[in-house]
Amino acid sequence: MKKHYDWLIVGAGYTGAIIAERLATQSGKRSLVIDRRDHIAGNAYDRRNDAGVLFHQYGPHIFHTNAQVVVDYLSKFTDWLPYEHRVLGSINGRLIPIPFNLTSLHILFPKTEADRLTKILIDAYGMDQKVTILKMRESPSQEVRDLADFIYKNVFLGYTTKQWGLSPEELSPSVTARVPVYISYDDRYFQDAFQNMPKHGYTKMFERIFAQDGIDVSLNTDLRDVSEEITYDRLLYTGAIDEYFNFELGELPYRSLEFDFQTYSQKRHQAAGQVNYPISEDFTRITEMSYLTQEWSDVTTVAIEYPIAHIPGKTVPYYPIPRDENLDLHNKYAELAAREAPNVTFAGRLGDYKYYNMDQAIGRALSLFKKEMEPR
Ligand SMILES: Cc1cc2nc3c(=O)[nH]c(=O)nc-3n(C[C@H](O)[C@H](O)[C@H](O)COP(=O)(O)OP(=O)(O)OC[C@H]3O[C@@H](n4cnc5c(N)ncnc54)[C@H](O)[C@@H]3O)c2cc1C
Repeated sequence: MKKHYDWLIVGAGYTGAIIAERLATQSGKRSLVIDRRDHIAGNAYDRRNDAGVLFHQYGPHIFHTNAQVVVDYLSKFTDWLPYEHRVLGSINGRLIPIPFNLTSLHILFPKTEADRLTKILIDAYGMDQKVTILKMRESPSQEVRDLADFIYKNVFLGYTTKQWGLSPEELSPSVTARVPVYISYDDRYFQDAFQNMPKHGYTKMFERIFAQDGIDVSLNTDLRDVSEEITYDRLLYTGAIDEYFNFELGELPYRSLEFDFQTYSQKRHQAAGQVNYPISEDFTRITEMSYLTQEWSDVTTVAIEYPIAHIPGKTVPYYPIPRDENLDLHNKYAELAAREAPNVTFAGRLGDYKYYNMDQAIGRALSLFKKEMEPR
């Protein structure tokens, strides 16, 4: 006899896992969650390498949020380890805090000039304020405009060009508009109220999210391979929306990444969790896993990150490319979905073609459940 599920859920990342958990525990609905990969947790997947170091296979994932609802939800499945991420940028052989802040200014400029600029910035924008390069370029002060140009050229331009394979002019203006300068000596990368890592890693947390009656998980299973032995009422699809429709309106462009994981026989490799290389090198950044996991030993593993072009079917689609024409194409797919697949819910960073931080993906999954799936 065929096995029946209320929901077939494609993707065992945050979106699929949370909605399966909510359906099971709040609505008593049965789901089959499939993933074409051989593991759960989507891009947040972590595991131990041969040297015993816990590392993030799809790139460093740092948890930070201001959304208490997200913290309350995840805290049911994990304890936490305090971690505040710090990023340094290697600029002409010197390491400066990123985002550019008052300490960065004092490292790169002679003291009297740095003191004078600091005073001008505080007078203009106030202490502990974030101001965009765009806004600084509108300043009546020539010195502030020159500083904005310096930061743009040395910190932003090279990194962005490597990251996207495009010049800033080719990207949506919102990307350049957002680059912050922090008028502060606070060198934390994030200022969110909650900055902690799951104590035993992301995969362990996902195991607990999935451990509910009413959820079956099938790995190494693509939507195309779903057995005819099962039936289901509804489909939640957290894969790429263009792939679902066989790219019939064209491909949605993504940027992909290649990670070179290196393990060194030393306790600590670099001066912060992350070092960015905006000017030199082909890679964008090096992240040292032990900072994130706070597990230190005699060996340490780093992830050296190379942005690469995405080839559908060959590379992993990591980042939707923020260009207006791509968002227009996604809107066309969303219209097609509403017309031709009314029984399918598309969500997640691939389904929505939107870069979500983890807390945003979780918030979106929780509100989608509340709005469209919770029993009334
Ligand atoms: C390099 C990188 C670094 C990041 N760092 C951070 C960070 O530091 N902090 C932060 O908050 N967020 C970070 N993120 C964002 C975070 O990864 C996402 O918010 C999160 O993964 C979104 O979850 P999701 O469920 O939408 O998608 P995913 O985690 O991508 O899950 C989708 C799953 O669907 C599966 N799938 C797709 N199509 C099919 C199919 N046809 N059949 C079967 N399975 C399928 C995929 O294999 C995948 O496992 C980072 C993202 C990247 C790319």
